Amino acid sequence: MSDTAVQDSPPLVEVQRRKIANVLRGAPWIYPNAVRQAPEVPGLVRVVTEQQRFVGWADFNPAAPIPARLLTRDEEWPGEELFLRQRLQRALERRMGLGYGFHAGGLRMVNGEGDGLPGLVIDAYGTTLIYDFYSRAMCERRDLLISIMRGQFADYRHVARMGADAARREGCEPLVPEDCELIFGENGVRFSMQLAATQKTGCYLDQRDNRRLVAHWASGRRVLDLFCYHGGFSLAALASGAQDVLAIDSSQDALDVALANAARNGVHLQIQRTDVFSALPDMSDEAPFDMIICDPPKLAPGRKDRAKGLKAYRHLCRQCLRLLAPGGVLMLSSCSQVIDSGHLLDILSQTASRQGKALDVVAVTQHPADHPWPVGFLTGRYLSTVFVEYRGEL
Ligand code: SAH
Repeated sequence: MSDTAVQDSPPLVEVQRRKIANVLRGAPWIYPNAVRQAPEVPGLVRVVTEQQRFVGWADFNPAAPIPARLLTRDEEWPGEELFLRQRLQRALERRMGLGYGFHAGGLRMVNGEGDGLPGLVIDAYGTTLIYDFYSRAMCERRDLLISIMRGQFADYRHVARMGADAARREGCEPLVPEDCELIFGENGVRFSMQLAATQKTGCYLDQRDNRRLVAHWASGRRVLDLFCYHGGFSLAALASGAQDVLAIDSSQDALDVALANAARNGVHLQIQRTDVFSALPDMSDEAPFDMIICDPPKLAPGRKDRAKGLKAYRHLCRQCLRLLAPGGVLMLSSCSQVIDSGHLLDILSQTASRQGKALDVVAVTQHPADHPWPVGFLTGRYLSTVFVEYRGEL
């Protein structure tokens, strides 16, 4: 649809005001139960309330579980290209303002809703930009997005992908990019990985600052890295002089990447391919560890899964504290937005008191500043991490 056509007679989506309270507070997603009237086809729409009060311009997809994602609350639609250009520029300036560099490391350049570009993530790994799409509309804009970004990143490689889950939700085909090598550095460690063998866009950039904290503490310690993926925490610890590191994951692909990167950085990594939940109770022979990193996958995708997720965390916490040496540090992370640092602290304090152990909280962190989210949009605030030190007996 041309921008002129959009301005002349834009399709309307009418929503119930009382069902979009969170949208009026800043959240960008409109759910099906709020929609009263809408076109049958996907496209750019004007969203209004039943009293015809303007809410904003949105990408609309009637087939998706999130049918409308708000792009702007300005009355005037600036046109696709200007809109994208301005939002991309704002995202880049925000990162520059925060002191992030663009050339060697791993950086989230665009964090979807948090950068006013719903459905779009752009991660930079060295000189490769991975565009990861979560909405059909953003995916359809890929050529325009890449051509705008080429203006500033001409000599970079630009790679577009849309994962199978996102594509299924949006009712479109996944976008499978050609394989390529990602080369980047993080906290003094060099990483290389083949995109085709990775999860998401490559690695979990949201844990970057926590990996730096781990590096600070790791010197001389015996480290256990649970759910290690490509060994980000393990290699940060080894590069900072950890005595030894045992890294565990259920994915052989992930462990192969971790081993290859350990060799590339001239450090020795021990690996074990197993299910962490069932392996932990039998790990007494390898214990105690002076540092345990526990960064499981999302254990509670929604509110209804919270109780089950908390039970899994209680198990992990019980086992990790059992394996931790006095003076040791445990890092416990949750990437489920329904399990936050409050839940993790409750579980830690209950488990510690049952085991008669005194713990000090030394850090509570969230995802770093290249992962912003709109206030009022709790989905955007998903990563919670607690570091505790085991001081001694109670
Ligand atoms: N800590 C990592 C990211 C972890 S992502 C980092 O900083 O990069 C979660 C990892 O857990 C994935 O690599 C996945 O393969 C692994 N995983 C999922 N379920 C598992 C299980 N039951 N046991 C062991 N590993 C598991």
